[in-house]
Amino acid sequence: MNLILLGAPGAGKGTQAKFIAEKYGIPQVSTGDILREAVAKGTELGRKAKEFMNQGKLVPDEIVIGIVKERLTQKDCEKGFILDGFPRTIAQAEALDKIMGEMGKEIDAVINVNVPEEEVVKRIVNRRICKKCGAIYHLIHNPPKKNGVCDKCGGELYQRDDDREEVVRERFAVYKRSTQPLIDYYKKKGILYDVDGTKDVEAVRSEILSILGKIKA
Ligand code: ADP
Ligand code: ADP
Ligand code: ZN
Repeated sequence: MNLILLGAPGAGKGTQAKFIAEKYGIPQVSTGDILREAVAKGTELGRKAKEFMNQGKLVPDEIVIGIVKERLTQKDCEKGFILDGFPRTIAQAEALDKIMGEMGKEIDAVINVNVPEEEVVKRIVNRRICKKCGAIYHLIHNPPKKNGVCDKCGGELYQRDDDREEVVRERFAVYKRSTQPLIDYYKKKGILYDVDGTKDVEAVRSEILSILGKIKA
């Protein structure tokens, strides 16, 4: 199953992607995670991406398209994958179509997780992430048992540099301008499925599972 999770920053894409990846045994491909890892390691990619990320701007299309092409052609993506945070522009979506065509594959479903701006801001400023395993927490909705420590692996929790309110507002504006047009792009292809992302994590999860149960592939 080849899936895309679409939605505003903080809509819950990562949270749901991890669950789907585990349940279906397919990798989660998060361009945000790949870029953050590059920044943390100080690679050339990381140096190029850092400024854009810290300002809440998109990293240039050529860079992320290159990353995704390389990732999707790896062996573990053969039986499917779940894209989280890509595509974010029409140019990225068109490039993805081309990559899929070259591999003789298709996107089976695009899950659009709907959450309004005020709610995503509240979610993001309270987001904490495990340094070691990437588990996602929320200080109010999904707090770790022990302050600052990951339940799953004991790793240290941190707040992303770009999860401050001013940057979040900019990211949301970028989402509206550049990413929202993808909803129509995929609607026209007949593969868009809307989900109410304002419900709790389990309710969103079951809505997504019921969609995935109905699609072929
Ligand atoms: P969120 O989970 O809040 O939606 P991500 O982790 O997906 O955020 O992305 C963090 C940042 O990484 C973005 O603000 C952007 O700078 C960069 N980024 C991630 N994916 C892409 C992409 N597909 N195109 C351009 N920039 C991206
Ligand atoms: P995205 O990948 O779309 O940026 P995340 O999955 O990282 O979003 O979620 C953003 C924040 O919101 C995290 O702190 C997460 O714990 C929390 N969260 C995710 N889904 C829900 C939900 N359905 N209800 C409340 N909080 C949620
Ligand atoms: Zn952890």
